[in-house]
Amino acid sequence: MECIFCRIIRKEIPSNIVYEDDNIIAFKDINPQAPVHLLVVPKKHIPNLLEVEEKDSFLILEITRVIKELAKTYNIDDKGFRVVINTGDEGGQTVHHLHFHLLGGRFMTWPPG
Ligand code: C5P
Repeated sequence: MECIFCRIIRKEIPSNIVYEDDNIIAFKDINPQAPVHLLVVPKKHIPNLLEVEEKDSFLILEITRVIKELAKTYNIDDKGFRVVINTGDEGGQTVHHLHFHLLGGRFMTWPPG
């Protein structure tokens, strides 16, 4: 079956996009787990963290830049926030296209569930 995030990137499925450039897209999670819950996603289809290659290092750096920008925009940079990359079944990954959850706006607990 076609990757749902690739379809979002191609605008075949609606999403609430908060950032976009040639390489990265970020949109609001459809099922938010915090007042701020954004997904920062490389447009390149990388299935998960294990599949990231050295040639993708620019993308990862860009994602950290976008996360910083969005944390500022959503006023969660001062108080703190959490970035999560679920990987594989036991890691809770349900969409097999690399994505960084950016969560904030409430106090995060540890350990995560
Ligand atoms: O880490 P995981 O793979 O479980 O995260 C996938 C995330 O994508 C979920 O938080 C889910 O709510 C979100 N999602 C979305 N829009 C879709 C499908 C899934 O925001 N159309």
